[in-house]
Amino acid sequence: MSLRVTFLGTGGAVPTTERAPSAIFVNREGDRLLFDCGEGTQREMMRAGTGFGIDHLFVSHLHGDHVLGIPGLVQTLGFNDRTDPLRVHCPPGTGDDLHDLVHAVGHQPGFPVRIEEVGPGDVALSADGYEVRAFETTHRTVSQGYVLEEADRPGRFDRPRAEELGVPVGPAFGRLHSGESVELEDGTVVESDQVVGPPRPGRKLVYTADTRPRERTVEVAEDADLLVHDATFADDMADRAR
Ligand SMILES: [Zn+2]
Repeated sequence: MSLRVTFLGTGGAVPTTERAPSAIFVNREGDRLLFDCGEGTQREMMRAGTGFGIDHLFVSHLHGDHVLGIPGLVQTLGFNDRTDPLRVHCPPGTGDDLHDLVHAVGHQPGFPVRIEEVGPGDVALSADGYEVRAFETTHRTVSQGYVLEEADRPGRFDRPRAEELGVPVGPAFGRLHSGESVELEDGTVVESDQVVGPPRPGRKLVYTADTRPRERTVEVAEDADLLVHDATFADDMADRAR
């Protein structure tokens, strides 16, 4: 199962020549998820070659550097004759403002845009083999991060061992891998655990967007494979940050 993360934008507040404002693109086995959509995100998508066909947009908070790319991206998706719905997940109380962004300058998207408010702890997306949940962060406006967590995956299939035991190449391999036992022609029964290793833990990706440091983030990010964390101010700028 592929899980690919593309950093489209990692800048803060204003774009620079080197960095676009916030946008993180995740392709999980063909499911295309975008976390925040700062100004110019669609150009960054072209440069990175991610494609535009996102299924879900997760919004951390309504500061311009995280959302001003939405109107342009939605209009481009319309130009591309999109018909699939786009689901936009956003913090509680921000749905109306997001609706205005999607419909900026009187634009009517030619495809359904479903804006769904999700609160901390809520499952924003429950998909095959993984889910995305929101968690609270601390910022100057209502804000939240998101954690993408996969379910445990089956253990590795030991093909040489299966062949050694006399299992015929074919559907029996798949049945063993999915936990079933298989009876061979001579009546021998091969159990799944003879050829399949222990279950492998799923992967975990955490995105905070803008936040002050907080204990909750440490809890949520425990055992994460990747934590994408705000770092607008380094320690030597702590006074300014406050
Ligand atoms: Zn912000």
